[in-house]
Amino acid sequence: MKLVFATNNLNKLKEVQEMLPETIELLSLRDINCFDEIDETETSLEGNAKLKADYITTNFGFNCFADDTGLEVESLEGKPGVYSARFAGEPANSERNMQKLLLDLEHKKNRKAQFRTAISLNINNKKFLFQGICKGEILEKKWGEKGFGYDPIFKPQGFNQSFAEMTSEEKNTISHRGIAVQKLVAFLNNY
Ligand code: IMP
Repeated sequence: MKLVFATNNLNKLKEVQEMLPETIELLSLRDINCFDEIDETETSLEGNAKLKADYITTNFGFNCFADDTGLEVESLEGKPGVYSARFAGEPANSERNMQKLLLDLEHKKNRKAQFRTAISLNINNKKFLFQGICKGEILEKKWGEKGFGYDPIFKPQGFNQSFAEMTSEEKNTISHRGIAVQKLVAFLNNY
């Protein structure tokens, strides 16, 4: 069965393909000649994931899944959440996003936060949602240089390292996206 992952991120694609049975052939947006800009206009992670998956199924006729991730900070009422990529405004810039978050938390004692990933799957005219959460806290300054996005200022619960100090293998086993993908893969393996 062909299944589209609504992304052009080859790292994400490879990671998921390796976890899937050989009977499922994973395709990227490029593989199906989709070069459209799919605007993430919804106000929730689930809404944006569903919007992207539905766009592909409706316009290209494929079974498809899409993901959306946000960083939810407790003392900021869940912000930046669905707006994580552009928290400090356009154009998206991780360094400015981190600096804005550190500033917004400057006088706050509660630094609890979680990354949350929503995956929306359309398969044979049915829809399914999967979620992965990684709880932790926002550090007072950057630790480490690996990874992307908010990795240097996020310390997962139970660890004394930021995401940016972990190898991608270490991060994938505990991360929001890793957990959501594991749930999706378990579902597809039994489908
Ligand atoms: P996306 O939905 O995977 O594109 O994620 C949206 C935004 O959330 C990214 O632009 C990053 O700023 C942030 N983000 C998502 N996943 C991670 C992560 O694993 N580490 C750090 N930041 C992340």
